[in-house]
Amino acid sequence: MAHPLELPGWRHVYSGKVRDLYVPAEGDSPDRMLVVASDRVSAFDHVLEPGIPGKGVLLTTLSLWWFGRLAGADGGRSIPNHLVAPTEPIPAEVAGRSMVVRNLEMLPVECVVRGYLTGSGWAEYRAQGTVCGIPLPDGLSDGDRLPEPLFTPAYKAPMGEHDENISFEQTVELVGAERAAQLRDLSLEIYARAARAAEGHGLILADTKFEFGVDADGVLTLADEVLTSDSSRYWDAEAWRTGTTPTERMASFDKQIVRDWLAANWDKTGTPPELPDEIVERTAARYRELLQLLTAA
Ligand code: ATP
Ligand code: MG
Repeated sequence: MAHPLELPGWRHVYSGKVRDLYVPAEGDSPDRMLVVASDRVSAFDHVLEPGIPGKGVLLTTLSLWWFGRLAGADGGRSIPNHLVAPTEPIPAEVAGRSMVVRNLEMLPVECVVRGYLTGSGWAEYRAQGTVCGIPLPDGLSDGDRLPEPLFTPAYKAPMGEHDENISFEQTVELVGAERAAQLRDLSLEIYARAARAAEGHGLILADTKFEFGVDADGVLTLADEVLTSDSSRYWDAEAWRTGTTPTERMASFDKQIVRDWLAANWDKTGTPPELPDEIVERTAARYRELLQLLTAA
């Protein structure tokens, strides 16, 4: 991976596959962080070359837009989130693709909500008729709408390991009964609000993943990125209604183009091949399209 940028006033502490984290250069127990979204794109757990131009800005714009909606701009109640107004300058080279956030104690659970059956949920259903242990009716197909949205948590594995789907009972073991119920209820509430908003713009929010942290006062706080095309599956509602094949029905606004190309051109051993310009451009256009559709008046 390329070296993280040196940012004046900030100290680099961590790089994930997509984002780089910094804390203020001064002080020992930082209460703030700078989260910088890069243009890196990952698929099948590999970071690919080249990146998708503009992706970091688009993901950050989407996150900020949703944080605002969920803070009450959509008419719903305000959900506490991790954003703070920067007190020191944001370095110009990361402007537009970074957020200053409160440094929270993160809970080790990825709070996934699925309104539709696909991906790892579809794989589990096909194998045993359940999703995260929850039994579902027979006869569902890839891409079908679920009878109701499901909270299907995953254990957030330490760096480098795979996240793993877990049951609600395992979530209780990890964070306690009260927190687990809070995580479930809040995740379902946010999903419902977001899915309704997306629907109004011709989009299906098929599934999404939230991460929560706890602040110094014990308040459960929405953190990380939210409802971006890296953390969610968005589909074209019209294509879903009229499509006859899974590919047509799940016309997605995320890196599916990249996944499909890679699946067809790589045997998943060794280093993945470089993405062709055409795939990079189509993916970038698709990300832009999502933001336009969602935020159109
Ligand atoms: P990868 O996505 O590559 O599997 P990752 O999820 O650890 O790894 P990123 O998503 O790139 O990496 O980086 C974001 C990291 O910051 C995550 O570990 C996330 O849990 C953490 N994080 C997000 N918001 C906060 C916050 N407010 N306080 C503390 N940590 C946070
Ligand atoms: Mg992450």
